[in-house]
Amino acid sequence: MSVVRQQTPAAPQATPGQIIAKYQASAPVDVVAIAHELGVNVWEMHFASPRISGKIFRDPLNGGPSGFSIAVNAGEPSGRKRFTVAHEVAHFILHRAKLENGDLVDDTMYRSGLSDDEEKAANLLAAEILMPFSLTQQLVNEGIKDVDLLAAKLQVSPTAMKIRLGIQVA
Ligand SMILES: [Zn+2]
Repeated sequence: MSVVRQQTPAAPQATPGQIIAKYQASAPVDVVAIAHELGVNVWEMHFASPRISGKIFRDPLNGGPSGFSIAVNAGEPSGRKRFTVAHEVAHFILHRAKLENGDLVDDTMYRSGLSDDEEKAANLLAAEILMPFSLTQQLVNEGIKDVDLLAAKLQVSPTAMKIRLGIQVA
């Protein structure tokens, strides 16, 4: 008996930009849902070193459909963990080829062994994911003008919010 496998045309894949945009309509941006939709699972871990904020790594057993997982330091505050997930998502989108070389581990300064330019690009995309200008503007229009309140609404650290808004950080 032969099995005929029917070929169905693959559904058009959403681009990372389209996936991200889908979750930026309301605050806070669900960055874990973005990771899942990109095919990456997200875990909280207790790392041996407190100097590690997160990592993205090949995880054939427990990873998402992409075969990758993100782990964040369970001991850090929630706004910080969200930024770390967004930073690792950014590495997944921007530096996918480099992830084939092994685990990408970011310390608390978001240094992983990639170049400074690559880390900057990951930080910028992470900020764009969590604090899109359109959503931030919408919140301001709704009367939320205080930086700390904006940060609370978007569930990011006040420091991240200040950097995003171009306000001098002490
Ligand atoms: Zn990094």
